[in-house]
Amino acid sequence: MKAHDGLYIDGAWRPAAGEGVIEVVNPVDEQVIGRVPAGDAADVDTAVRAARAALPAWAATPPAARAARLAALRDVLAARKDEIAETVTAELGSPLPFSQLVHAGVPIAVAGSYAELAATLPFEEKVGNSVVHQEPVGVVGAITPWNYPLHQIVAKVAPALAAGCTVVLKPAENTPLTAQLFAEAADEAGLPAGVFNLVTGLGPVAGQALAEHPDVDLVSFTGSTAVGKRIGAVAGGAVKRVALELGGKSANVILPSADLAKAVGVGVANVMSNSGQTCSAWTRMLVHTDQYDEAVELAVAAAAKYGERIGPVVSARQQERVRGYIEKGVEEGARLVAGGPESPRDKGWFVSPTVFADVTPEMTIAQEEIFGPVLTILRYEDEEDALRIANGTVYGLAGAVWAGDEAEAVAFARRMDTGQVDINGGRFNPLAPFGGYKQSGVGRELGAHGLAEYLQTKSLQF
Ligand code: NAD
Repeated sequence: MKAHDGLYIDGAWRPAAGEGVIEVVNPVDEQVIGRVPAGDAADVDTAVRAARAALPAWAATPPAARAARLAALRDVLAARKDEIAETVTAELGSPLPFSQLVHAGVPIAVAGSYAELAATLPFEEKVGNSVVHQEPVGVVGAITPWNYPLHQIVAKVAPALAAGCTVVLKPAENTPLTAQLFAEAADEAGLPAGVFNLVTGLGPVAGQALAEHPDVDLVSFTGSTAVGKRIGAVAGGAVKRVALELGGKSANVILPSADLAKAVGVGVANVMSNSGQTCSAWTRMLVHTDQYDEAVELAVAAAAKYGERIGPVVSARQQERVRGYIEKGVEEGARLVAGGPESPRDKGWFVSPTVFADVTPEMTIAQEEIFGPVLTILRYEDEEDALRIANGTVYGLAGAVWAGDEAEAVAFARRMDTGQVDINGGRFNPLAPFGGYKQSGVGRELGAHGLAEYLQTKSLQF
């Protein structure tokens, strides 16, 4: 799609007050594919005012009518799914089939789920002599990352709109074209002016101005833990609501009774998809000591299949960061069994699918989020040891457990300090709450739990 040279505010594309420009670069060939304005604090203020002005009417719109707009939004996204996939592929670099299936497919499903939830959720409930009303929180500031560019926008904007909130979105610098496409879709879907607003811009400028704006009632942020901590502190100081979706270092626990080949195969695929740039990726594979060598061999064979298929990482900076972690892994004594720090191609920000064996729990590569196609395989002696390792990071976003018996896997999963666990390769569920324990975040996205984040209660007594 062609880039807009304005910001989408109050129902129209308008010139930015900020004079900067962000260049969008294709990670495969390093060519500039578009330029978007870098909005500044004045632009954020204009957008927040528009969202505030639109709030009373949107909050008073009956849920069924809000649901109808969300259904229209879903339909526009579905009609433009090929364009969405091509845009994500152009600015993120993910292979087109993955963009079609995941980057376009998932947000269409999520938008649809909120059209249904808005239509069916009871926004009031009787509790004894009270009626409890669920009311919108107000103006939402949404700050999103680049790794699932449309999914992360829809996972915030759709529940916010369903709840009756209005929104100002500041998307990631690397993937603003997908955000502009979403703004076009919101416009086509007939959302009233000011209900959804888009300010492209730099994190420390536009993002920070949005997080600090006194007229924003809730900040919903997905991205790095470092920025998330700052946003949480700012929100705490202002006593405003905040939702944080941060990093992860999720464990894929393969119990001795599991189908080892399947568990390793799915585990490797989980890490390599989207070039490892997935906050919920199972980047630590935990294998019993008796099956360890076999699992390493299986993982090496599985990783080899991704050599040609894997896309680049999003930027030169990300490539550098991932390389740094691979070098650190070697330095700290882990055994490199696939891939390595050298780029496999002359052009583009590619990283070879990389697997480390003999990884111990205290190593940097077993503790920190790498956000690249790097799998670590750790050895455990018994179930208690596996649990200690699985729970032994500051994160707790996702995970997996494999066992011959489902009940055995469930019993282990219940002891994991993490927000989601897939049992024997359970499928992604767009209605299941997603979010972190510990430093992986605060709050939940998706489904009814995700909608609840954007509501506040008022009790009337009779
Ligand atoms: P980031 O946290 O810097 O960026 C995420 C969003 O926050 C972007 O829209 C950015 O513009 C904005 N932002 C940056 N600084 C800000 C500030 N001071 N105030 C307000 N908003 C600000 O993340 P990144 O640099 O794109 O990626 C760095 C690392 O973060 C990755 O390597 C990865 O480990 C992690 N990450 C995690 C997720 C996730 O889904 N949990 C997503 C992307 C990145």
